[in-house]
This record gives sequence, C-alpha cells and structure tokens, in this order.
Amino acid sequence: MRQFQAIGGTYEPIRDFVPYSGSDGPTCGGQPSVANNAFYCSDGHFIAFDAGWLQGMYQQLGDAAVYVVIPHEFGHAVQAQLTQNFNFSVERELQADCYAGGTLNALIQAQQLRADPGDDSEIINNLQAAGDPTDAWWEPGAHGTPERRQSAFATGYQQGVTAC
Ligand SMILES: [Zn+2]
Repeated sequence: MRQFQAIGGTYEPIRDFVPYSGSDGPTCGGQPSVANNAFYCSDGHFIAFDAGWLQGMYQQLGDAAVYVVIPHEFGHAVQAQLTQNFNFSVERELQADCYAGGTLNALIQAQQLRADPGDDSEIINNLQAAGDPTDAWWEPGAHGTPERRQSAFATGYQQGVTAC
C-alpha cells in the first residue's frame, strides 16, 4: 500500500481473510462473530466476513457494493496501526469509510480493479443502506448517516487517504 507509506506508516499486511457462515465465524478477543457482518480483528490482525451475507449483497446491490464492505474493514486495520484516539465511534467509522474510498481508488489506479459503469451508484446505494437511520452520532455504535458516510467515502476516493 504505497499511499500508506505516504502518511508515515509501515503497513503490516492483513494476516488472514476468514469467510464464515452465519454464526460459525472466528472469535475476536473472546467475542463471538455475528451473522450478516464483516469485521476487522486487531487481536490477530485479520478480516472476517459472513460469506453468504456478502454474496446476497453482491446479488442485490452489485459487485461494487462489496468493494465498500471489505475496504471499510481495511480502513479499520489501518487505523489499528495508526490512530486509536477517537472520542466517538462515528469518527472512527467515517474515517474507515474515507480510507475505503481512498483504497478503492488506489486499486483502480493501479489497475488491480476495473471500475464499471454503474459502480458509483452501487456504492452510493450501499452506503445509503448501511447508514444510520438517525443522526445520533454520539451513540457507541454509530456509523454516521447515509449522507455523511457517502461524503466520507467520496473524500477518500477523490483526494486519497492522506485526506482522511
Ligand atoms: Zn466499521
């Protein structure tokens, strides 16, 4: 990840990608994984995802939607090595969205991914669906409203991870 070096870090690659089904996923620091989710675990430095859930999202929202979920978890992996100082969950989550946008664009620039027509709207729809229903940004599990998530993703996508 060249851009990671630009922001002054030495990036340790993710050790493992662990697909799971329903509730048979790996534990993270003693916490069980939950169905219909993807997560980064700093205790082990891996990303795990409910494969059936991602597959359903792929069918419903298109391939680009999946490129929101995994890069978002990458964002948390980057954060685990850079900053842990967040006052609110929502700050952490919006920065992960921003990193996700920056990562996705870097992959497209490096021609490791090809952007298809319609990908933009798939990503926007995914963040629309994944946004919080209310703007209770102080809540412990808050991820931000659809608008804030879309705008954080766009910042990273357009300006790169240094803008996050
Ligand atoms: Zn998150």
